Amino acid sequence: MQPSGNLVADTICRTAEIGLTITGAADAGNITIIDATPVTVNNLCPDCGQSGKLRDHTPRRLVDLPVVGFPTRLHVRVPRFTCSNLSCARKIFQASLNCADDGAKITHRVTR
Ligand SMILES: [Zn+2]
Repeated sequence: MQPSGNLVADTICRTAEIGLTITGAADAGNITIIDATPVTVNNLCPDCGQSGKLRDHTPRRLVDLPVVGFPTRLHVRVPRFTCSNLSCARKIFQASLNCADDGAKITHRVTR
């Protein structure tokens, strides 16, 4: 995968407008699966507001708008952080995405 070669794909799938960049794509028959990562990540703990340390990544699946007529599934690689504040009750948190509410299964632009 070339780092710059996905600009076209980002434009076609309009992932840039929802803060994601495409890292790969697969044609899975009647659906298109797009692998993506967030362009910018907020690593602030939702409970205490301190910045966390990167722990690992977790996959998150989202339904997105169809691309050229095919339903699209976004597989987003979401960073997870550990809160560095020892007095904070939260140990691990997942980065929020600009394109979907936490815990949601579809992107904002699908509901628009
Ligand atoms: Zn915290």
